[in-house]
Amino acid sequence: MAMEKNWYQSLTEAAIAGGLPPRDTCLKMLTDSRVELLPLLDAAFTVRKHFHGRSVTVHIINNVSNGLCSEDCNYCPQSKSSTADIAAYSEKSEEEIIAEAKQAYEAGAHRYCMVYAGRRPSMQRAERIAGLVRTIKEQYPIEVCVSAGIMDDESSRILKEAGLDRLNHNLNTSATRYAKICSTHTFADRLNTLKSARKAGLEVCSGIIAGMGETAEELIELAQMLRDLEAQSIPINFLLPIAGNKLKRAQNLSPDYCLKILCLFRFLNPQAEIRTAAGREYHLRSMEVMSLYAANSIFMDGYLNTRGKSRQDTLQMIIDAGFTIQSDKSAEELLGQETAENRDHDSSISGLKSDSDLHPARN
Ligand code: SF4
Repeated sequence: MAMEKNWYQSLTEAAIAGGLPPRDTCLKMLTDSRVELLPLLDAAFTVRKHFHGRSVTVHIINNVSNGLCSEDCNYCPQSKSSTADIAAYSEKSEEEIIAEAKQAYEAGAHRYCMVYAGRRPSMQRAERIAGLVRTIKEQYPIEVCVSAGIMDDESSRILKEAGLDRLNHNLNTSATRYAKICSTHTFADRLNTLKSARKAGLEVCSGIIAGMGETAEELIELAQMLRDLEAQSIPINFLLPIAGNKLKRAQNLSPDYCLKILCLFRFLNPQAEIRTAAGREYHLRSMEVMSLYAANSIFMDGYLNTRGKSRQDTLQMIIDAGFTIQSDKSAEELLGQETAENRDHDSSISGLKSDSDLHPARN
């Protein structure tokens, strides 16, 4: 027998009032076959609408450096344990990074995310990133996020002083599972980075990669932890099986389950910017647009080492479903901007080899 209407309603009411759903309710959400997707999504959508309306923030991610990483994260093609065929480079030039920030702004991105491969930035690199943040913030009205590995109090402070809005460092998976996906750093390293960012007054962006063998209980634990950290931004990635990576198969991800995960994070983090991130196209397939009923944010132009939906198709999908893009440009202006130049640029922004993209094989 399906769940009663008021079961879904109570989830919405609790989230809007700032309450935390009991653990067994969260568990039901992910595991009980009586929970139907549409009423659950509708309940999550009511919470999303309450805090964010129908607005969608669009993010563009830039691999400032790519590959050559000392760490062994098993899901990452840039890891030293991966043989994936990526275009490795140590750092783009300042001119290139700033030009890409300009492009992101002109394409309607609300936020420009600069991602550096590697364990942690040296003090010189932290100073260099601070200089770039300063220049971009002076030139373009765009939010800037940096992801540069493990950060301490000092490097977080330098970036905050330069005007950085947000620091990203994903928790990825639960504390108990962490050693199974990476041996070169710990869950505690990740948590401490987020604490340093908070201490420096930076907004915190931290998310997960679902599909790495975690249980429903572990997903609930992560959603709860991000609530406790008051993460303003939570990217929900779905593992992409990439040839050459140690983690070759995504586990237990159906479109229905992916959407329920997004709902879980919305109910536990009602005010957060929840992003439907890498793997949305691959795992959600024809149900991709439904992710926006729980999430209020999306990447366009692909991810760090995998292609995603094009700018045009991402923007069109948002508009077609009746959502609005948070930008100082109109939807018509944004859609009219798709040029051959934009398209040609895709591969350099996402660190792909132009002749060999990393579309993962279906498992
Ligand atoms: S996730 Fe980051 S730290 Fe881990 S291997 Fe990839 S680039 Fe290196």
